Amino acid sequence: MAKRKKQTHSTEDHCEKCHQDTLTHIQMGQYFFLLSALPFLMAIVLTFVVHPVFLTFIPLVAWMNFRIAKKKTPLRRCTNCHHTMTPQKRTHHT
Ligand SMILES: [Zn+2]
Repeated sequence: MAKRKKQTHSTEDHCEKCHQDTLTHIQMGQYFFLLSALPFLMAIVLTFVVHPVFLTFIPLVAWMNFRIAKKKTPLRRCTNCHHTMTPQKRTHHT
């Protein structure tokens, strides 16, 4: 009996959209970086081009993104259909 096609049916590691198990996990640090890279760059550019007042945006953006990242991670992203899944109601783990 070498037939091992039956997969363990854990929705945990399957995409809820296309049901493939091509999920990558995005950790908080990565997600934070993803969220922050562009606004940070914008703030730095604007600081040099327009006014240094835009430097104050950096901690603001960092704080906001930190909160978002904390809430949304660990994020699971399907590499097949690019569907992202945020953790739904989970018992606190930290
Ligand atoms: Zn998918």
